[in-house]
Amino acid sequence: MFHVKHVNMETLVVCPVCGSTALLPFLPVTDHFLSKQVFFIQTCVTCGFKFINPRPTQSEIVKYYQTNDYISHNADKSDLISKIYKYARRFAIKSKYGIIKSKIHGTKVLDIGCGTGEFLAYCKHKKLEVFGVEPNENARHYAITNNKLQVWENLNEFVKTDYHFSCITLWHVLEHVHTLNETLATIKKILSANGVLIIAVPNSNSYDATYYQQYWAAYDVPRHLSHFTTSSFTRLIEKHGFILNAIKPQYLDAFYISLLSEKYKSSQHYYLKAFFLGLWSNLMAIKNKNGTSSLIYILTSKNT
Ligand SMILES: [Zn+2]
Repeated sequence: MFHVKHVNMETLVVCPVCGSTALLPFLPVTDHFLSKQVFFIQTCVTCGFKFINPRPTQSEIVKYYQTNDYISHNADKSDLISKIYKYARRFAIKSKYGIIKSKIHGTKVLDIGCGTGEFLAYCKHKKLEVFGVEPNENARHYAITNNKLQVWENLNEFVKTDYHFSCITLWHVLEHVHTLNETLATIKKILSANGVLIIAVPNSNSYDATYYQQYWAAYDVPRHLSHFTTSSFTRLIEKHGFILNAIKPQYLDAFYISLLSEKYKSSQHYYLKAFFLGLWSNLMAIKNKNGTSSLIYILTSKNT
């Protein structure tokens, strides 16, 4: 078993979304994926935002990614879950491109947290001008070397330049970010006036989140620091001068998250259970309008 020792932790005293100091315990969750450590999720009484508190500091969190198993950074695994993930990713890349194509005015796309760069490579193939940001050194190296992309380590690199992007995307990245407010403020500066911001994050109000509780794989502590609902997410982005243009469901995520969650529960016949739970979660999302396991938010700047 992988043990993470001597980790520097930090405690937030105000809610990063609304600034309230009224924070309550919500759920203890084990890092099922790597360290087996328990982390505590708190909820803000005022806005409902949920987040790990205390949490490993920004310089310490890298210890929780140091494994070849962290799937979004690894291009070469071949077990069944990785194969399903890759098949779903190919399908997802095309649908992500479809969303961009229908919303973009211009050609410059910046993908923040681009990983190994498959999505950007597809966009480049479709004649968009593509740029990436990826803090993980191995993933960034792969994107630059194998996918021939321009990828920077840090978003702040662009603030010094006069780059402005027609579209900025964060596909399952914002929940990993320590500096939520600073990141959104930087994005606001480097997004064109008529640009579109696309953010996909897990939905902690989904049926599968409610069903699996501490086993819900999208809590993914401590790598996922923030847990959004449509309400807390909207509050955050409005604070930074963005308007919610549309919300799109992500139906495949319910199956993948249920599969991992059943695995964490050590369930028998977990493929079968995950399939039906994923299906049920999607049906409930349609019926109750509480959103699918993950959601894609399409945002524009308020001043356009
Ligand atoms: Zn709050």
